[in-house]
Amino acid sequence: MAEHGIALGIDLGGTSVKVGVVNRAGEILSRGVRPTEVEKGPSGVAENIALAVEDALQAAGMQLSGLDGVGVGTPGICDAARGVVVSSGNLNWKNVPLADLLQRRLGVPVRLENDANCAGLGEQWCGAARGHDHVILYTLGTGVGGALILGGRIYGGATGWAGELGHIRVAPGGPACTCGLQGCLEAVSSATAMAREGREAVAAGRSPAMARLAAEQGGRLDARVVITAAREGDPAAQQILRQAGEYLGIVSAMLVSALNPELIVVGGGASHAGDFLLEPMRRVIAEQAMPGPASIVRVVQASLGNDAGLIGAATLIWRWAVQNRGRS
Ligand SMILES: [Zn+2]
Repeated sequence: MAEHGIALGIDLGGTSVKVGVVNRAGEILSRGVRPTEVEKGPSGVAENIALAVEDALQAAGMQLSGLDGVGVGTPGICDAARGVVVSSGNLNWKNVPLADLLQRRLGVPVRLENDANCAGLGEQWCGAARGHDHVILYTLGTGVGGALILGGRIYGGATGWAGELGHIRVAPGGPACTCGLQGCLEAVSSATAMAREGREAVAAGRSPAMARLAAEQGGRLDARVVITAAREGDPAAQQILRQAGEYLGIVSAMLVSALNPELIVVGGGASHAGDFLLEPMRRVIAEQAMPGPASIVRVVQASLGNDAGLIGAATLIWRWAVQNRGRS
């Protein structure tokens, strides 16, 4: 089949479905957004995805027949080869054959991958990790997602759980994590964790700057407040980011010694903290990883923002075609 050079990327989240028509340069030509409506179950969600797809195609003046296929980034654990969402807490799904559901509805090839893995693939295709085959990616948002790109491909492990970097325990006795463990990286370095630390600092009277910035947005203290206060020179906010960066550095140092990556990419909303977060990471990696691999690895901020997952999902179609060339 001749390639059109256009695919659809889907970022399936717990609250909304974001769709983009994407070309091979990673440019988003048009978009569609619909609510996920998790309560409607897998077939209802698949229908909402199809509607968002139609919105995006209409906006681009295109039809499904003009696409190479559809790639979907989903929260949770995926069996990419079978196109099954094995387990997703956000969607409340177990063993949902989403690729089949969508393929029947849309009539084009559909591929699935975990959402953080898609963000890694997007950054590797046309973002901060372009041209690199050995990459570790973190996404710092509500939680901490991770992706391991080894030898140019996503490493999923024996059963798809590899790359769950947010649930590596880094602070024994630390805060409870959503997974049921304590002191996971997600519990100390996510945007949620930064906001929690910020609220504690304000409650203890240690940060007039964060108190003022939160008051300016109706009392809501999120990671953005912490980052803005840090830029203004607030010591408490800078300390919160330094600590989050040090924990990321501890996990990264182990991964650098184990996997010898060229690049560590930090994405997600909280990555806008930039060097407040990345400098402590670099320092801890230099202190704790083996000197050989530590000397070559670079730690950088992601460059595609919120679109990394969507673009990476679209590229699943082209990667799949290359990996399976000659098989069918
Ligand atoms: Zn956890």
